[in-house]
Amino acid sequence: MSSIPQNLQAVHEAIALSAARYDRNPTEIALLAVSKTFGAEQVLQAWQAGQRAFGENYVQEGVDKIAEVRRLLADDGGAEQLVWHFIGPIQSNKTRQIAENFSWVHSIDREKIATRLSEQRPSSAGKLQVCLQVNISGEASKSGVTPDQVDSLAKHVVQLPNLCLRGLMCVPEASEDEAVQRQAFRQLAVLQRQLQTQGIAVDTLSMGMSADMQAAIAEGSTIVRIGSAIFGKRDYAV
Ligand SMILES: *Cc1c(COP(=O)(O)O)cnc(C)c1O
Repeated sequence: MSSIPQNLQAVHEAIALSAARYDRNPTEIALLAVSKTFGAEQVLQAWQAGQRAFGENYVQEGVDKIAEVRRLLADDGGAEQLVWHFIGPIQSNKTRQIAENFSWVHSIDREKIATRLSEQRPSSAGKLQVCLQVNISGEASKSGVTPDQVDSLAKHVVQLPNLCLRGLMCVPEASEDEAVQRQAFRQLAVLQRQLQTQGIAVDTLSMGMSADMQAAIAEGSTIVRIGSAIFGKRDYAV
């Protein structure tokens, strides 16, 4: 079995290859290591290999892990370098914990959630960096606004004092066909350009996971969210 540092190395190489193939600057593609279901130990292994940005889907698991990693890294002073991103579905009774513990939220899909996050963001923490989640494939089971709701949600978020709207995020319907994958990601890029045309300065496209990273990079992804290719297969039974 390969180790987390080796996997990280391989993912960086894959990002560089895709960037070269699609004429992208690899420094404009950030790697978010999705550590959900894995423990603080695995986060530390990735940290030791140079990884700094981590993504979590479940609030309680994420908050506990952040505290545990901070405790383990206290002596190194390294905890300040870690940047935690919340990428999972958001219930309104969990917004305070998210606002207090994370630097980024990728999964904003309603005005009420955005408003609460802004109200509950501690001023000492600086603005929360946020993306709107778009249900790009229109699946009933997926969170996210429909493409035609992006505009009005974006206009709501930009006037909230403690949020900084950075861009859009999607989790398209799974497909092994790269052309199908690219088509979904292209739609998100089009929505981003529509916001930019209206003077809303969004610079982030959070798209691409282990199975569709290359297609996402081809279509302009600036943050790829990679879990299993770094940490291995997840065991949801635990
Ligand atoms: C789990 C998850 C990922 C990572 O998925 P992998 O297939 O393990 O790379 C990325 N984004 C979101 C929103 C996720 O829930």
